[in-house]
Amino acid sequence: MDFSGKRVIVTGAGKGIGRATALMLARRGATVIAVTRSATDLETLAGEIACETIAVDLADADATREAARKALPADLLVNCAGTTELESFLDVSVENFDLLYAVNTRAPMIVAQEYARERVEQGLGGAIVNVSSVAAFVGIPDHAAYCASKAGLDGLTRVMAKELAPKGIRVNGVHPTVTLTPMAVKAWSDPDKAAGMMARIPVGRFAEPDDIAEVILFLLSDEAAMVNGLSMPVDGGYMIA
Ligand code: NDP
Repeated sequence: MDFSGKRVIVTGAGKGIGRATALMLARRGATVIAVTRSATDLETLAGEIACETIAVDLADADATREAARKALPADLLVNCAGTTELESFLDVSVENFDLLYAVNTRAPMIVAQEYARERVEQGLGGAIVNVSSVAAFVGIPDHAAYCASKAGLDGLTRVMAKELAPKGIRVNGVHPTVTLTPMAVKAWSDPDKAAGMMARIPVGRFAEPDDIAEVILFLLSDEAAMVNGLSMPVDGGYMIA
């Protein structure tokens, strides 16, 4: 897959899956526009690859829209930034519910709106990948707000895929299982919980960030020209009943 000459927005490019995606895109010729919160992460990324960098808190809707406009023009978009807070359902706070919805669901919508508006105005096609989670399909204890936010993102993906494909923009979702990133350390550092999760993954391991990045790049590429509205598990078989 060659992305030479393509400008690609990657949110959450500072760490984990987003960073792996940014690095892989750059190795394959793309110019990455890295959008994330930590200025330090952006500095170290810019030390590794030639990229444009935009620091923003995606929980802030107005700042997110401004950052998305600044990131244009772009040929392709990866909405990868995400966050989680572990709370049992009875303890979910309104503050955390709203935060997860703002970052995991609303921000991808805002960034995609700005990206797609410009592509449509210019009569250009494109592709969007929204990074969801197996948590959109499965109820995972202590992840109520996270599961809801990712299921909400999937709803957006499906409507975007229907409305934008006739205008030449494909939209797909990627659904990783536990992937070895800073987020996984936060969510899965309890060995008993991790062992229970691992036991349900037939390939017998958690994912590496590059496992997810490869699938994201495929869905962005012209090779996936007929793939639209897909919710693609990248889970080593976790979703098999
Ligand atoms: P990481 O926590 O490793 O990285 C997330 C990235 O998103 C960081 O660069 C982070 O920046 C950025 N980000 C988070 N909140 C904000 C914010 N408010 N504003 C701007 N940027 C923000 O997560 P992963 O790489 O693991 O996750 C990437 C995506 O994959 C997420 O959408 C996640 O939900 C999804 N996913 C991850 C799984 C896993 O097991 N790791 C499993 C399934 C799905 P900063 O650190 O500066 O806040």
